[in-house]
This record gives sequence, C-alpha cells and structure tokens, in this order.
Amino acid sequence: MRELYKRKHASYRITNHKKIFFNATKDIVCFNCKRDLLEEYVLSAPNGKYRCLDCAIKTSLIDKIPDKITKAMN
Ligand SMILES: [Zn+2]
Repeated sequence: MRELYKRKHASYRITNHKKIFFNATKDIVCFNCKRDLLEEYVLSAPNGKYRCLDCAIKTSLIDKIPDKITKAMN
C-alpha cells in the first residue's frame, strides 16, 4: 500500500503562495475540519494554514482540484 502512495506524488503550484502537495510525512491537520492529512493531498496557504482539498474548495481557495492532481489520485 505504501509503495502505491509513493507513486502518486504530485504537486501543483496555484500561485506563489498556494500549493497543493502530497503530504507523505508531516503531521498536519486540516485547519477547517481538523482531519488528519497524513498521506493526503493538502493545500498550503501563505498564512501557514493547511487544508484538505474539500475544505480548500469550500472556502474558495481553489475552484476545483487541478486535473494533474486528479490524475495522480487515480
Ligand atoms: Zn478539511
């Protein structure tokens, strides 16, 4: 299972300060829903807050999950 995750790594820069990346190692929880984001895609924002992609969309930080990330998930 772990090997599978490793192959899914992709990152996507939205602006200089906003970036979606695959969190393989860091102990991060979503700023909004407090979900554990280990081994999940995470949006990092300039204020140092991390969000799951669902919350990133709900809070309008991103419009949708970029195609590059969607492809990497599947
Ligand atoms: Zn969340």
